[in-house]
Amino acid sequence: MSNLYEIPEQTRLADMLVELTFADTVFFTNSGAEALECAIKMARKYHAAKGAPERYELITMEGAFHGRTLATIAAGGQKKYLEGFGPAMPGFPQVPFGDLKALEAAIGPATAGILIEPVQGEGGIRIISNEDLRHIRALCDEKGILLVLDEVQTGVGRTGKLFAHEHAGITPDIMAIAKALGGGFPVGACLAGADAAAGMTAGTHGSTFGGNPLAMAVANAVMDLALDEAFLPHVRMLGLKLRQKLAMLADRFPRIVEEIRGEGLMLGIRCRIPNTDLVAALRDEKMLTVGAGDNVVRLLPPLNITDEEIAEAVARLERAAARLE
Ligand code: PLP
Repeated sequence: MSNLYEIPEQTRLADMLVELTFADTVFFTNSGAEALECAIKMARKYHAAKGAPERYELITMEGAFHGRTLATIAAGGQKKYLEGFGPAMPGFPQVPFGDLKALEAAIGPATAGILIEPVQGEGGIRIISNEDLRHIRALCDEKGILLVLDEVQTGVGRTGKLFAHEHAGITPDIMAIAKALGGGFPVGACLAGADAAAGMTAGTHGSTFGGNPLAMAVANAVMDLALDEAFLPHVRMLGLKLRQKLAMLADRFPRIVEEIRGEGLMLGIRCRIPNTDLVAALRDEKMLTVGAGDNVVRLLPPLNITDEEIAEAVARLERAAARLE
C-alpha cells in the first residue's frame, strides 16, 4: 500500500521525529539520495510558491556528497560521479569547503538556499565548525534563503548528538536523513519546518514504497533504541575512547598517520601514505573501513560497539600500521 493512505507506524515515527527536532513535517523515502531529492525539490518549490521561481539554486561546498541520482550528483559536483552521464543538472553552484566569504559572494537572485553536510563524510570527515554553521544560519536568515542540511551520514546519533547540527545550537529549514534511521534497513526521510514545506502540497511529490509499514516498523524500533537515555552518552564516551586510542596510534606511527579527525563515532584517519594502502592493510586484518577524500580512511563503527571491540579494532590498526611501516 502506498503512502497515499495512512500507515499508523508512519504516523508514529513522523510524530516522534517532529517531537524531537525543528521539523513540523516529514516525508519518508527509501534512501538517502531520495531524501535529498525531496529536500531539493522542496527548496525550489518554496520560492516558486512565494512567487520567485527564479530562485532555484542550492549552493554546495566542494567535496560534498549527496547521493547518486542525477540531481544529487550535480549537487555533489564531483567529476568522478558526473562523468559520462550527460550534462549535469543545473542549479548547484559550488564554493570551496569552509570558505564563508565565497559562500556569501555566491548568493544572488537565483539562490534558493545552501545545501551542506555538517560533517562531510565522503569529503574526508571534514567538520564545518559550530561557529561557521551559526554564521551560515544567520546568512540564510538575512538573505531569505533556506538552510538545507544533509544529515544522511551524520544523523541519528553518529556524532554523539541525535543530529549533528545540535552541536552548533542551530536548526535547519530542511534536513535529509537516512542510513542509521533504518539500522541497516533502507529508509530515509526529509524533515522540514512548516514554512519551508509550504510549497509541498498534497500531490507535489510521492513514493510508492516511501514510509512502507516494514520500513516504519524497523525505523520505529531503531528510534526507540536511539532514545534510550544511555544511547547517546555511549556513543560520545566510546567515540572519545576510540579517538584517544587513535591519537596514540598517530603518535606511534607518524609516518603513516597524519591526523585524527571527526566527532562521536564518525572518525577519520588522515594518512601520510595513500589511504587505499591502509584500507587494504586493514582488510588483510579482516577489518572493514572505507576511504574518503583528503586521503582519509573513515571509521564508522556500529553505534552499539563495545569497549572490547574498540580494543580489538585498535590492535588490528596497530598491526596494519606496523606492517606498512
Ligand atoms: N548524503 C550523504 C552525506 C551520504 O553519505 C550518502 C551516502 O553515502 C547519501 C547522501 C546518499 O544516501 P544513499 O546511498 O542512501 O542514497
